[in-house]
Amino acid sequence: MGRALVASFAAALALTAPATAAAASSADVAALQVALRAGGFYAGSVDGVAGPATSAAVRSLQRRRGIPADGIAGPRTRRALGRRGRPRLGSRPLSVADRGWDVAALQFLLATHGFPSGAFDGGLGAHTDAALRRFQAWAGLSADGVAGAATLAALRRGPPRSTLRFRRPLGDLVGDRFGPRGTTFHAGLDFVAPRGRPVGAGASGCVEAAHRDSGGYGKLVVLRHGRGMTSWYAHLSRISVRRGQCVAAGAHIGRVGSSGRATGPHLHFELRRRGAAVDPGGVTG
Ligand SMILES: [Zn+2]
Repeated sequence: MGRALVASFAAALALTAPATAAAASSADVAALQVALRAGGFYAGSVDGVAGPATSAAVRSLQRRRGIPADGIAGPRTRRALGRRGRPRLGSRPLSVADRGWDVAALQFLLATHGFPSGAFDGGLGAHTDAALRRFQAWAGLSADGVAGAATLAALRRGPPRSTLRFRRPLGDLVGDRFGPRGTTFHAGLDFVAPRGRPVGAGASGCVEAAHRDSGGYGKLVVLRHGRGMTSWYAHLSRISVRRGQCVAAGAHIGRVGSSGRATGPHLHFELRRRGAAVDPGGVTG
């Protein structure tokens, strides 16, 4: 990488990026957090936010390596991160078995675009490869598992949004929101509610799935709505609808539980647009 590129890359990390570059800039911060975590300097969430915890972690790395501790991940600091500090996203096409800063940035971009792939770890393994191919198909690209210029251009566009308005499936407290959580990405919105609380359909639609999921969702209902949208209701204790049945908004579809991978009773509510998880944060009363 030439000096000019290194300098502009460092500047992008240090400055507030313009809106069009916001996704790429937060992906670089996420890659920095992944590298700092691996070195034991950062214990926070891989959230792509250049906040005080990330600057403090950069300063402790800098002090350890005898670099002036300014908290900014410039070229020397990134060199000190070894192979996790390079190469820059976009400097090479990425495919399975690649590792490094750019892979961590890619994982973050895939997740924020609705295709999370397990832990952010800077290694392009089977999960990231599958997420990459699903994103490529979603974006109308050839699903070849090679993240080159066309894939990165598609990832630099804003994340997909819901095309429909949904109502809250429960009136209870909101727990974890859609977004980074630790080293992974939480693709839905959690409602913390007692076991047995009735769950209502977020919008009118027809039941696409109503079964016990073999993955982490447990007892799951999926409703298909118009305009490419599906809504997902997971960890239920009871399912009250059948596949193929059509329901009105607010109709009772099941009860809160903790089936599947859940630490306690709650509803995991997820929205997908043509398969990409979108932020349900705007659900109304
Ligand atoms: Zn959840």
